[in-house]
Amino acid sequence: EQDVAEYRKSLAIRTSGFDVPRPIKAFEDCGFSIALMNAIAKQGYEKPTPIQCQALPIVLSGRDVIGIAKTGSGKTAAFVLPMIVHIMDQPELQKEEGPIGVICAPTRELAHQIYLEAKKFAKPYGIRVAAVYGGMSKLDQFKELKAGCEIVIATPGRLIDLLKMKALTMLRATYLVLDEADRMFDLGFEPQVRSIVGQIRPDRQTLLFSATMPNKVERLAREILTDPIRVAVGEVG
Ligand code: ADP
Ligand code: MG
Repeated sequence: EQDVAEYRKSLAIRTSGFDVPRPIKAFEDCGFSIALMNAIAKQGYEKPTPIQCQALPIVLSGRDVIGIAKTGSGKTAAFVLPMIVHIMDQPELQKEEGPIGVICAPTRELAHQIYLEAKKFAKPYGIRVAAVYGGMSKLDQFKELKAGCEIVIATPGRLIDLLKMKALTMLRATYLVLDEADRMFDLGFEPQVRSIVGQIRPDRQTLLFSATMPNKVERLAREILTDPIRVAVGEVG
């Protein structure tokens, strides 16, 4: 335990919550498949960043996470890699349609970046990824969602529109990510985010990532997540 505390300290990681898994030292410690390890290597990721060291084992254990680390610290892979594992763990026979992983991001640029990263890790498995955001044809996105996907990455407003149009259902959704939660708040997306969360089964796994953690975002997180483990890296949060 003393070693774990020192290792966390060396990575500037602070955690709170019960039964926090120990941080990993290498991607090899995650139990990832060969296909996923190859995809990680192909990305040029040699070792996990500090937020990844602590968040990956927690998310892989199925717990909810509040992750706080500055921009550029590798938060995307901390939720995308376990999402691939989560999807591959689903029982094959499912009557329901619709995404298993749902990621909300504040802007189309961020949604697109996450889409590119998710695609790279999803591709070896034939997992379908859809990105839906404003500024693109709603009809095209409607058709894409109707064709089926396992992961949807969306800005909140557009996702609500498409849910209203019944382009997708949330019946299969069990892995929800709210990325850049502080910016979603700043942009006034709280009602839309709450509406989306309300349409997903409560026994889902929920992850909330942010570069900063103002009180209002912390309160939302505490409302929406179940027994979360909070991980903060560096000076933030
Ligand atoms: P954040 O969401 O925290 O702002 P990103 O997930 O966008 O950060 O990652 C920032 C950059 O770091 C991206 O270019 C990403 O490909 C790269 N990156 C992520 N994880 C690693 C890693 N383990 N090793 C090297 N580069 C990484
Ligand atoms: Mg990010």
